[in-house]
Formats: sequence, structure tokens, C-alpha cells
Amino acid sequence: MRSRPLAVLADFRLRAFGRQCSRSQSPRSQGRRPQAHPGRLVLFLIKGPALALVLGLAACATSPLGRSQLKLFPDAQLAQMGSQSFEQIKREKTISANGPRNAYVSCVASALIAELPPNWKSGWEVVIFDDPSANAFSVPGRRIGVHSGILAIATTPDQLAAILGHEVSHVLASHGNERMSQVLAAQAGLLAASVATDSTTPGGRATLAALGLGAQFGVLLPFSRSHENEADLMGLDLMAQAGFNPEAAIALWHNMAAASQGQPPEWMSSHPAHSSRIRALEERLPRALALQAQALAAGPRPDCPRPPDPPPGTEPSEGDRGA
Ligand SMILES: [Zn+2]
Repeated sequence: MRSRPLAVLADFRLRAFGRQCSRSQSPRSQGRRPQAHPGRLVLFLIKGPALALVLGLAACATSPLGRSQLKLFPDAQLAQMGSQSFEQIKREKTISANGPRNAYVSCVASALIAELPPNWKSGWEVVIFDDPSANAFSVPGRRIGVHSGILAIATTPDQLAAILGHEVSHVLASHGNERMSQVLAAQAGLLAASVATDSTTPGGRATLAALGLGAQFGVLLPFSRSHENEADLMGLDLMAQAGFNPEAAIALWHNMAAASQGQPPEWMSSHPAHSSRIRALEERLPRALALQAQALAAGPRPDCPRPPDPPPGTEPSEGDRGA
């Protein structure tokens, strides 16, 4: 029973770090680069199939919008987990073979990625799945998944840019790392479960949900209000910097609200609507419009025409899953 005292110790330390991070909340400051403050060593134990001792650096970090964060996992580990999970989704779902639509979504994504900070510009994978549910997601490891059904809600290139900008922002701001760290800090005993990505176990599904794949694996874990607000505002800036019309982010939310009166869009299950959401976007709109004007003065508007939708029931599909 060597593991229990260590787990208790880890819990104590992680809670202490959580308080320390939350105490150091700083006012939002635009344009700040994320900063890690490593230097504190945390030792914690994973009770897995094979007992493993993990040495990690606990870090109070700062999000791109200046919010204080607790990030306990190495970014490389999150990237590996996200990539593995994404590969699993690719094996299990039907990848779209609709060339014009794939080109359209990739065009919008590429325009956004081109505006990311230098160390974020490469290595992204965008996959469109034939799935009528309205969903899109991005996970650590620089993977973006788009269900064909989201195009019924995001009806223009600008609205699609709002969705993808929001999703990419969750990854840039390390929200998955932060959510997993919060779980760990709250309950060190869950650590063994929280680092697994086996979708057949409750712990594995919890991890997948923390990564942002809850809807994909049947676990409802909406992002917190602060994460949603941050992704909204970062995404708004990003789409504007790429030359898209930021007003489309607000139109998108009106579309979401209208669609939610019937069967709510799947995307909304992991991205719950808040009454303050549109207001926060509107408050930042003048700044975003100025960013868009700068982008258009410097270069052409993204040219990503939306192709016509194929007639119902005529969707081509790729027989080869997980290529
Ligand atoms: Zn979100």
C-alpha cells in the first residue's frame, strides 16, 4: 500500500498549487503571450496497469488573454493523447470523400492557421466527417474535426471561420490541459483514470471529455464559462485577423439559438449557450472589425467559396476508414 500516502501527498500539493494559481488572477491583458512558471516539482503516482511514477512540473501559467491557469501536464503528453484519440475517431467514423466540401473547410481552416503565432502555424490536420450532427472540435495535437452537419448551422465561410476559430482557440489556450489539471487537483485519486484515453472505461471517457471530445464519446462535459468566453474572444480576433467578417460570429450564435429549438446542435452540448455570450462578442466587435480592416488592407479577403450542398442521400463516402 505504498501508493496511498503518495496519492494523499500529491493531492495536498496540487490543491495548494490550485489555490496559488487562483490567487494570482491577473486582469485580462490583450496580447500577452502565455507564460509558464515552472520550477516547482510535483511528484505524483499513477496507479495504472503497470505502476508508474511520474515526475512533473506543476505550472501556474497565463492564458493568451491573461487568465491565470493551472497546467500540470506536459504539452507533449496532451498532444499525444489528443492525436491518439483523434486517430480513434478517424477509424470509427466515416471520413468525407466530398472533395469540394473538404477543400472548402480546409481553405477556411488554413486561412485561420496562417494567422496563428509562429510556433503554431504548422502540423495541423483537418478532417471532415460524414455526420449529420452539427459538431466540430479541435484537440491537442493540432487536430480539427468537422462534422458535415455543422455546415447547416454555419452557413457561410465567415460563420465556419467563427466555429473553427473558437475551436482552435480552445487548443491554443490549453483548455484541455487545464481541465485535466483541475480534475487532478480536485481529486488526486482520479489520476490513474484521468491519464487514460480508453473510451471503454469511465476514467478514459472522462479524459476524452476533458480533452474536448465529450460529445464524441458520450460524455457531457461542457467547457466552463471562462473557457468558453476565452475561446469566443480569441476566436473572434483570429477570424478577423484572417480577414473574415467577425460579425458572422454573432450571426452564428443566432443560428445556433434558432436551431436549438428543435433538436439542439451537438456542438452546443459541449459549448453551452450563455445569455452573456452574444453580448461579450458584441463588446469586442469594434476591436475585431478594426483587426479585419487591417487584414484587408494588408492582403486579400480569404477566398473560400462554399460549394453547393449535395442533394440529400447522395453523399459520397469513403469506404476506407482510418486511412
Ligand atoms: Zn468552446
